[in-house]
Amino acid sequence: MYNQSMSSEGPSEQENPANSDGGSQQGEMEDRIKNSRLYKNDLQLADKVPLIYSSGYNIGFMGLEKLHPFDSGKWGRIRDFLVTEKVIKEESIVQPEEATDEDLLVVHTPEYLKSLKSGSTVATIIEVPPVALLPNYIIRRQILQPFRKQVGGTILAGKLAKERSWAINLGGGFHHCCGTKGGGFCVYADITLCIQFAFSKLGLSKVMIIDLDAHQGNGHERDFKDDRRVYILDMYNSQIYPFDEEAKERIDQKVELRSGTTNDAYLMELTKQLKKAKGKFKPDLILYNAGTDILDGDPLGRLRISPAGISERDEEVFKFAREVEAPIVMVTSGGYMKSSARVIADSIKNLVDKKLISIEAISASSSL
Ligand SMILES: [Zn+2]
Repeated sequence: MYNQSMSSEGPSEQENPANSDGGSQQGEMEDRIKNSRLYKNDLQLADKVPLIYSSGYNIGFMGLEKLHPFDSGKWGRIRDFLVTEKVIKEESIVQPEEATDEDLLVVHTPEYLKSLKSGSTVATIIEVPPVALLPNYIIRRQILQPFRKQVGGTILAGKLAKERSWAINLGGGFHHCCGTKGGGFCVYADITLCIQFAFSKLGLSKVMIIDLDAHQGNGHERDFKDDRRVYILDMYNSQIYPFDEEAKERIDQKVELRSGTTNDAYLMELTKQLKKAKGKFKPDLILYNAGTDILDGDPLGRLRISPAGISERDEEVFKFAREVEAPIVMVTSGGYMKSSARVIADSIKNLVDKKLISIEAISASSSL
């Protein structure tokens, strides 16, 4: 059952906002995607599992990380847990390329990318004021490049999910950033980029974003403002950042929670909303923004979900993807407490245990 405005033939001229600004802009976007190296074909994917990570993800603040409330090495710690606990073999992990300026221009304006050359702009976006004092090349190497690697990971995840039915980027999920503006620790709009690449290169035309980070996903909501090929289910604490009322108008299924919401109420609501979503839209790809800042004790999210509740939440979403027969991309998004990496690794392990994802490489499983 498709949304009223959908046609099963895929996007039409009217449905795509880029076309209304002129075909050349759309053409430029298509060219950039066509020339990108992010969907590389030389990955020897048969020996890999669609779990994406690079040691280049981790951010160094030259000691300034001590001033930051976040665990900026979260991504590497998730990988360490998964490898040391033998959930996945190190050599099975897919390493992405870094997104280039040309890749980022698929969604971002040149003005926005230029603004990131200013230390104070980056410091404001990532909410670490002392970063404004660092030399430009340090900001680029220690902060922007790790984010670009993660963006490359999210974009690649779209391709791998289509081929393998699921993909998890251990980073990404920068849902406060849109094409023209960053904020809330989000410098690049990886979710929008992943979806635009999928539309253009994978022949997909109906994507559902399920955003379960504690915060409202105002970045992708702004980017897809006039694009009905995307259905947005966003469940967030309405009493915290970003209070973006204009972006809220774009949400197809808006679920506003209050601070202090606990496991049972949260999971019951999620089940109800997923059931509703099933009747509203038939996606050919799901983009799952799986922030762990809903965890009890997270100073930013202010919800009270337990580690077991996070595993259950992720399980629900992966079951939903299987029921609607859509490939799923998961990104880890917000949640930078010291405990977040442990919780994410445990949840991925739970998905394996419940057979919702298979961590067998294609070549290994075909030899059985
Ligand atoms: Zn968040």
